[in-house]
Amino acid sequence: MTATAILADLVAFPTVSDRPNLALLDYAADHLHRAGARLHHLPAPCGTKANLVASFGPDGPGGVLLSGHVDVVPVDGQNWASDPFTLRDSGDRLYGRGTCDMKGFVACVLAAAPDLAQSRQPLHVTLTHDEEVGCLGARAMMPRLAGLNIAPEIVIVGEPTGMEIVDGHKGCCEYSVTFSGLEGHGSTPDLGANAVAAAARYAACLLDLAEALKSRAPAASPFDPPWTTINIGRLSGGSTHNVIPARAELDWEMRPVRDGDAAFVHEALRAFTETTLMPMLRAAPGAAIATTTIGEVAGLTPQADNPARDLVARLTGRNATHTVPFGTEAGLFQQAGAAVVLCGPGHIAQAHKADEYVSTDQLAQCSQMLARLAQTLR
Ligand SMILES: [Zn+2]
Repeated sequence: MTATAILADLVAFPTVSDRPNLALLDYAADHLHRAGARLHHLPAPCGTKANLVASFGPDGPGGVLLSGHVDVVPVDGQNWASDPFTLRDSGDRLYGRGTCDMKGFVACVLAAAPDLAQSRQPLHVTLTHDEEVGCLGARAMMPRLAGLNIAPEIVIVGEPTGMEIVDGHKGCCEYSVTFSGLEGHGSTPDLGANAVAAAARYAACLLDLAEALKSRAPAASPFDPPWTTINIGRLSGGSTHNVIPARAELDWEMRPVRDGDAAFVHEALRAFTETTLMPMLRAAPGAAIATTTIGEVAGLTPQADNPARDLVARLTGRNATHTVPFGTEAGLFQQAGAAVVLCGPGHIAQAHKADEYVSTDQLAQCSQMLARLAQTLR
């Protein structure tokens, strides 16, 4: 089957991150199995989603791994010109949810499976769930790969880069903090415990840390801006002027440029909470400041020596490398010891939007890269 025909089938599975992906994985497993792959289904605890691992060539460490996620972002509130879960072919563009991010890459890989099956080196394909909500599937998969004796030397993550070679991105860590104090009359502040005041101090601490992070920027940072950033995204709490608020909420994110910055921030917040904020709430019997981790996506740090970059440069004929501002599963593979790049069809500017599309030219370039990869490994 052509990549375009497979993409039409993949788009028709509405695998929004909060919905099951098992039917899509069965479809992909069928393609890979018919090409001769050895398959491992790694079910998620919820029972409605899984990761799929397919292997060609010999068993054992080394070789190449092609990584893709099969979940997509929702279409709610978006104004699509046609059904987002029916592929629309305009001739040079293929429209549909996930065409760009990143079922286009997955379709090219499935179409190339018979070719890739000839590999004389370990060659793996991983299809993961819940990338868009914090790389949850890939994080669960990493220890399982080690158990299967899968330790690729090179990983290509097919996120949409316009088929350019990307060797770096920041991490992305998202948190929600709730502050619980004690309600009271505004005229007697000392008899209550003001949760909004504690949240405001916490926010001010985050702003101070955001400034401090600027001076921690690595000397030759490839990122823009070059330092780890912090954003306070939402701060809410309280009801009216004369009531001491018992509850407040704060959502914030951090995009680390290197190892160590996240620990620096967390340690500073822990110390500030203990020494300053908890004493502020001392009047409340159930005073608490609780942080929920929404997602922690590891960064991809550019490496001077990167066999994945060298391989993909040979396959695509491109020499330049880039960094991107969005997080992916690539950092997890790097942490596991692999050389990693992103290279996939479509442009991130067309992802996550109404009328998401991938161009047929981009798909053709991706298929060509995979054909050359198959040749190289044969
Ligand atoms: Zn993606």
